[in-house]
Amino acid sequence: MARHLLSLDRLLLTTHLTPDGDGLGSELAILRHLRSLGRDVTILNCSTVPEDLRFLVRPGEVITYQKGKHDRQVAEASGIVAFDLGAAGRLGRMEGPVRISPASKILIDHHIFDNDLFDVLYLDVEASSTAELCLRLLRALGMESLSLPIAEPLYVGLLQDTGSFNYNSTSARVHRIAADFLEAGVDPYRIWKKLNCQKPYARVRLMGESIARIELQHEGRTALAVVDLDFLKKSGGEARDAFEVVNHLLSIHGVEVGCFALQLASDKVKFSLRSGGRHDVCGIAKEFGGGGHRFAAGFTTQGMALAEAVQLVMERVARLGNGRSPG
Ligand code: 5GP
Ligand code: MN
Repeated sequence: MARHLLSLDRLLLTTHLTPDGDGLGSELAILRHLRSLGRDVTILNCSTVPEDLRFLVRPGEVITYQKGKHDRQVAEASGIVAFDLGAAGRLGRMEGPVRISPASKILIDHHIFDNDLFDVLYLDVEASSTAELCLRLLRALGMESLSLPIAEPLYVGLLQDTGSFNYNSTSARVHRIAADFLEAGVDPYRIWKKLNCQKPYARVRLMGESIARIELQHEGRTALAVVDLDFLKKSGGEARDAFEVVNHLLSIHGVEVGCFALQLASDKVKFSLRSGGRHDVCGIAKEFGGGGHRFAAGFTTQGMALAEAVQLVMERVARLGNGRSPG
C-alpha cells in the first residue's frame, strides 16, 4: 500500500460528506507527511469543514469540491485516496466524477464496506478509527518521528471515534497510540476546549430542546428523537446543531437502541442508530441503504414523509425482538 501510494505522482485525498474528526484528521495527517516529502497532493472534499474542526486546518490545505471547477482535477489525478468513507454514496456530489476518473482508487477505512469502486483497499474493521490505520500507514511510509502537525489531527480522529476512549473500540492499543500522540506534543486540554467549549449558544439550546423531545418506545428499550424542519426553523438552529442529541439517547436507563431522525427536506430523513451493545444496528442501516458499524450506523430515506419514515424504522427496530437476541 505504502509503495503504491508513493508510485502515484498526483494524489487527491478525500473523505465523506460532513467530515468528522476521523475523516478530516486522517487526510490532513497524510497530506502533511506527503507534502513534507515534496509530493503533489491535494485534499478535495465534497463538504466544507465543519466549524468546530476548522482549528485543525491551515490555509491552503482543504478545497471544497465545486461541480465544473474541480472535475478536471479529479479526472487528471493519478491516485484518489478516500478516508473513513463507509459507502461510495458518502462521496456526495463527487461520487460521479470519482467513478469516471481513470485514477487508481484507494480506500483507507474501518467501516464495513460494500466495494464497487476502489482498486486498492486498506480496510480493517477491527481498527478503532481511520486515524489508527493512517498512523500504521505513515510508519510504513517511513515516517521517522511523529510531529505535532501529524499527531494532532490523528489524535482528534482517535478521540472522536472512540467516544473519548469510552466506546468498545477502545483498547490498550488505542491508549498506547494516544500516548504516542501526547508525547509528540498534543495537548488534550486544548483539544477538549476546541471541540467542546466553542459551541454557539443556539446549538446548546437546541440540544436541550431536542433532549426534551426524546420519547421512549418498546417498553423503554428504544429512545427516539425526531427533529423536523419546522422545529429547526423555530429554534433558529441548523441541522447539524441538532445532531448532538444522538449522544444522549443511550444515556437513559434501560435503553438498548437509540434512534435519531433528522428531517433534511420534506421527503428526506437522515437516521442515526446507536446500540448499547446487544444489537447490531448496522444490519438495519444496510436494509435502508446505509451502513456504518455494529453499534453506530446511519442511513437516509428519500420519498417518504417524516412520520411515515419514522414509523417504518421503528417497526424494524421493534423486530429486533422482545427478548431481543444478543446482537
Ligand atoms: P452518524 O449517525 O454519526 O451519522 O453515523 C454513524 C455511523 O454510521 C458512522 O460510522 C457513519 O459512517 C455511518 N453512516 C451514517 N450515515 C450513513 C449512510 O448514509 N451510509 C453509510 N454507509 N453509512 C452511514
Ligand atoms: Mn471513522
